[in-house]
Amino acid sequence: MTQANLFLKKINSDYVALHESYENYFWTSYMGDHSVDEKKNIAAQALDAFRGNQTLRAKAESLLAKANAATQVRLRIWINFFDTYQLSAEAALLKNEIDQLETIIMQRITARVEGYTDATTNTFVEASALKMRTLMRTSPEEKIRKACFDALEKLALENIDEYVQLVKLRNQFARALGYDDFYDYKLRKLERTDKKTVFSLFEDIAKNTRGMFAVVRKLEESDKGLRKPWNFAYKMSGDFTAQEDPYFQFDEAVMRWGKSFAALGIDLKKGSLKLDLLDRKGKYSNGFCHWPKLVEYNNGSRTPGAANFTCNVVAGQIGSGVAGYNTLFHEGGHAAHLLNSTQKDVCLNHEYAPMTAAWAETHSMFLDTMFSSIEWKMRYAKDKNGSSYPFELFANIVEKLHVLKPALMLRIIFISTFEKEVYELKNPTAEKIIDIARKNYRTHTDLDGDSLTALSVPHIYSWDSACAYHGYGLAEIALSQWRDYFYKKYGYIVDNPAVGKEMQETWKWGASKSFDEAIKVATGKKLSSKALIKNITMSPAQVLRRAKSRLIKMQQVKPYNKPVKLKAAITMVHGKEEISNNKVSFESMANKYAKWVRREASK
Ligand SMILES: [Zn+2]
Repeated sequence: MTQANLFLKKINSDYVALHESYENYFWTSYMGDHSVDEKKNIAAQALDAFRGNQTLRAKAESLLAKANAATQVRLRIWINFFDTYQLSAEAALLKNEIDQLETIIMQRITARVEGYTDATTNTFVEASALKMRTLMRTSPEEKIRKACFDALEKLALENIDEYVQLVKLRNQFARALGYDDFYDYKLRKLERTDKKTVFSLFEDIAKNTRGMFAVVRKLEESDKGLRKPWNFAYKMSGDFTAQEDPYFQFDEAVMRWGKSFAALGIDLKKGSLKLDLLDRKGKYSNGFCHWPKLVEYNNGSRTPGAANFTCNVVAGQIGSGVAGYNTLFHEGGHAAHLLNSTQKDVCLNHEYAPMTAAWAETHSMFLDTMFSSIEWKMRYAKDKNGSSYPFELFANIVEKLHVLKPALMLRIIFISTFEKEVYELKNPTAEKIIDIARKNYRTHTDLDGDSLTALSVPHIYSWDSACAYHGYGLAEIALSQWRDYFYKKYGYIVDNPAVGKEMQETWKWGASKSFDEAIKVATGKKLSSKALIKNITMSPAQVLRRAKSRLIKMQQVKPYNKPVKLKAAITMVHGKEEISNNKVSFESMANKYAKWVRREASK
């Protein structure tokens, strides 16, 4: 083995070990056991030190001259990697301070007692923030919705002083490395794009979708209080959430997810998966997927990776099951993506830079969008009696809610713009940040009232997900373009192994291509918001016509009836307790888990 190859072997295995140690603590901590937090921070420091190691960078550089072309490519991947994470002594100190502050905020969020005050009895009702958000969408009693809203507004402010401090430190960190501010650092250094590119795409979309607000104001004329923040989601969609709920019972979710992935031909390449899906006190309140074990190569042979993913389903709560389904597709999509990578250098096989949030989210969001399509619902979503999701319900929803289709994109633009403006503050203070949160809420929702919901978004408090929300927006643009491409080519997406095959081809790339390049190769076209804008500004009649023709096409597609084999070792857990696994079969694992979910729901 040449010197260069020995060096590559060593840095790959060193990095895998450091990554794994950190990720194991990360998972334990985020799942609610904070006894490991200090170890997590120490492991994070070791990881940061490796990523920014300039001695290793210099060594890689010195080996270039004698290396062959293929090895040179690999050395350059690492040189670029070490450059990406290079920290000055000042920045390294700041990063440690930031890690510690983030840990304090997280501990406080997960340990606090959450709930609302019942206005009739004047008693405190304990309920997680997540549960209160669901109640705001589904409770028929305005008093309860309003109480949840007020409680959430109060929670949003609990860490404001620490957040101000965090913004200052992150900006100092970015400036120590020569960037204007932290958002600028995130975009230019880690995402390989810039504010102008991202926000001009967003402004274009916002401009093209503002018509939605006029329609909603018109609706309010005959539905007083519609635009109140605690009424809007309920009045627009509360009934539908309840009507859809019987078709998305959570005990069926794992089986349907498995079948649908198998029908696409998704193969997890002998990886391992650990899923922790139900909410519990102390657990991080947002879904995510991480990879404690990265796919790696040793002397040419591939070692599969391992992924963990989580969400916060409240078993039995109306509207919660469907969110759990969404997670299985979304986070399952993330897991499948990187478990399929075939890159020899492990720094291309994780979700951190050089991977971009935009490219990573394209896959997860493509799969959750497929799940939310009428083709998927009519094929897979059945109630207890085995009746399929009715087209009529879909039609009613489209008639009433299609006008709100831009709302998702506008929310992404809202959070991204909020963060951008916060980090652009010359002198951040709590008052200024609160103003920015309120102003952007009004601009991007047009609701009748103020809200500090931007400060409740968990992403803004954590290093990796802060100033990364735009990734969802870019992914939404990309997946619309990709869906368009697949419909034109095959006529259907659900249960189409040809779609799965093309996606898996792109998954092999890991982070070896930039987002723009990857989209161009995958869809044959440069990234453009055309498909997305068309999709979210169609009339309900157009949407229904398109749905009918897609459903006709689905009649020719046989349902998947074979056993589910995703080629992975899967474990379903609840914290440290194992509920079931697929050693015997996927079906037996899903059944055992379903029984457990039903028991939890009846508690
Ligand atoms: Zn995601």
